[in-house]
Amino acid sequence: MLPPLPPVVATTPESRLAYVLHHFWQAYDGQPQVTIGYAATQPQVEIAEAAGSFFSETGPYPAPPNWRDWHGQQLPFFFDPHPEAPLLELLPAGRARINADIISAAFYLLSGWQEFFSDERDRHGRFPFAASVQHRYGFVAVPVVNYYFEVLKTAVEHATGQPLAARRWAGGAPFATFVTHDIDSLHGAWKAPAKAALRSGRLLNFGRQLWRHFTQPDAWDNLELVQRTVAEFGAKSTFFFLPEHRKAANGTPNADYDLKIVWPRIKPLVDNGAEIGLHASLLAINQLRLDNEVELMSGYSPILGLRFHYLRWEPRSTPSIVKATDCNYESTLGFAEHYGFRNSYCLPFQPFDFQTGKRFDFLEIPLNVMDATLHHPNYLQLAPDEILPALTPMFREIERFGGVCTLLWHNDHFDPANTATGPRQFAELMHYLRSRNTAFVNGTDIWQAVM
Ligand SMILES: [Zn+2]
Repeated sequence: MLPPLPPVVATTPESRLAYVLHHFWQAYDGQPQVTIGYAATQPQVEIAEAAGSFFSETGPYPAPPNWRDWHGQQLPFFFDPHPEAPLLELLPAGRARINADIISAAFYLLSGWQEFFSDERDRHGRFPFAASVQHRYGFVAVPVVNYYFEVLKTAVEHATGQPLAARRWAGGAPFATFVTHDIDSLHGAWKAPAKAALRSGRLLNFGRQLWRHFTQPDAWDNLELVQRTVAEFGAKSTFFFLPEHRKAANGTPNADYDLKIVWPRIKPLVDNGAEIGLHASLLAINQLRLDNEVELMSGYSPILGLRFHYLRWEPRSTPSIVKATDCNYESTLGFAEHYGFRNSYCLPFQPFDFQTGKRFDFLEIPLNVMDATLHHPNYLQLAPDEILPALTPMFREIERFGGVCTLLWHNDHFDPANTATGPRQFAELMHYLRSRNTAFVNGTDIWQAVM
């Protein structure tokens, strides 16, 4: 299932610096004249070089991080061989020195180095959270790269004498929220109660479920309800539709509906402000198949963004096939097993192409929280009243850095019968986010604001 490591282009300190600084400047308004780099170039803001030979080898994990205090918060710093030296030295004559190699650490996390070089995959072909440094060192809900950038920002402000402001979103909002729905199933609501009735021998009840299934609309056939519910919060939705209803080779289902039949209902969603994206199926693991699915969808509407079903993302091949589709953005990169920051970053970014040594053109809008993650036999088991308190620290981090909060709430989780991660829990999160004056945006709004 795991493809072999493709040939990679060796990175250099300069290419890693360029990749990281591109995102640093993208995170702030304005770009003052200042030089940032390693000692050899005698920059105004000098960063200690400490990657050694790590990036010329293929090991997935660097040495364990040091934990340093930054304004009262303990943060992990990889590539930090001198923990006795102060993190940041503000020097005379507009110079500053950062004594941990935050460029290498930011590159390591943002590029997804660990998952590209690791050969751990789960049964769906995904890099498992359990194999990540975020899990190992317990910082999945902390956008560590944004903190590295805050250290760098402080140094740059000292060097230039000018404040650097975090980006603002539509209407001056301090952060953005991207509400998304993967549409996997429109006809499955009746199955679980019917199966339960059959299993326990309640045949009358089973018959009733069956009768209802054939005579009444399914509770998951609710696209319009989803749109109305989101609109009640002054927000808009992005729906990712699956054009493939054949199962994957291992029997995992794709769509339980036929896009052709659903299509007449999609235009009214669009007319009411919805954005439509491609939910690429489990069969879309090569260029031909993915292009085919883009083609199927774009017959109906221009496809600007996509997310992979089951959050299936093979770091060695998926980004390259996404690149060739000409989609503007992609939004799969979150851990299914835990909410938080898979690349330790709360802003959209351009993934790193190990085969060219440069960034990809498409924008990754990282996924922060999926409904199923919160309560599922394989993932977390939060009680309904534990969900908002668990997520609030992550939301606060996103707000602090002017980031994007990407929510995935499947349409079937708008079924009132779902009392674990259902419409009530969704409403709680939305009430909270609205109370923090977030800007509700879609993927295209984000792409236009960032690129
Ligand atoms: Zn899906």
